Amino acid sequence: MQTAVLTDSLEFEFEERERPDPGPEEVLVAIESVGICGSDVHYYRHGRIGEYVVEAPLVLGHESAGEVIAVGEHVTEHDPGDCVTLEPGVPCRRCKYCKRGEYNLCPEVTFMATPPDDGAFAEYLAWPADFAYTLPETVSTRAGALCEPLSVGIQACRRGSVGVGDSVLVSGGGPIGLLAMAAARAAGTSEILLSDVVDRKLEFAAERGADRVVDAREEDLAETVATATDGHGVDTVIEASGAPSAIRSSVEVVRRGGDVVLIGLPGDGEIPIDVLDIIDNELDIHGSFRYANTYPAAIALLESGAIDVEGVIDFEAGLSEVEDAFGRAMDEETVKGMIAIGD
Ligand SMILES: [Zn+2]
Ligand SMILES: [Zn+2]
Repeated sequence: MQTAVLTDSLEFEFEERERPDPGPEEVLVAIESVGICGSDVHYYRHGRIGEYVVEAPLVLGHESAGEVIAVGEHVTEHDPGDCVTLEPGVPCRRCKYCKRGEYNLCPEVTFMATPPDDGAFAEYLAWPADFAYTLPETVSTRAGALCEPLSVGIQACRRGSVGVGDSVLVSGGGPIGLLAMAAARAAGTSEILLSDVVDRKLEFAAERGADRVVDAREEDLAETVATATDGHGVDTVIEASGAPSAIRSSVEVVRRGGDVVLIGLPGDGEIPIDVLDIIDNELDIHGSFRYANTYPAAIALLESGAIDVEGVIDFEAGLSEVEDAFGRAMDEETVKGMIAIGD
């Protein structure tokens, strides 16, 4: 089977690899659609993300869906012909965190396209059956693949207790920000503001239903938020940009007693924040790391039509055009590129 392998920064090679056999608890999936994530692009450009370093050739891609073509002998929940989306992080199932249901925190987790574990830019993948979720017929594998970034958005909303009637500021209009906004809308929020510094992303967020977009280059975010919320601040800030200035201001624009959820990764993790603000205003600050137990919700939201994920896709390219596709994905105006595999 054909596999696109990252061999060095900015260099993909195609490798002919043996098609895997599914283990007794696994499904064999013919991959059809894989999203290009910011983390894939980061590995492509820099060969590392923090402590995760690409030391051996790595298959990128962790937002994937396809068709089951064979199942292991103990698999009862899937049949050949089912379309599935694959949850890319597989935890140990035995540790304290797994037992608490917080399996995204499992120290033994293996995660697609995170060194040393390979991802989904390949024709076939054998994957644990319980981390493959059947897609309803009305949900395409393109949409199914995007259950992954949507899951990040759902997890952020859950961490920030986003609920009916709430006001939310989403900081950052990339795919994660946009899908967090969609999840927040589905949760019943009444007012969503989205801030960014790229014109096209602001326009796109407005088209996708932000009540107000804030150009952080020109507008004073605190002032705009105050105006929109009668001076109180938003109930929840979802910080998806990773920009140090946006992270700092998130504690200023949230209401007293509100929630701040941090998902955007800054280049340098040390950012000065006024702790007195946090104490006096009784703020809840949450990190949000990947997700747990979100795939069923993501699929249900796609099936009901509450969330449109395909609308964030800018382009689709074949596996053989992967290098070109990554070039396009690096453009700051690109929201989401997809790789189509097979026919
Ligand atoms: Zn991703
Ligand atoms: Zn575990």
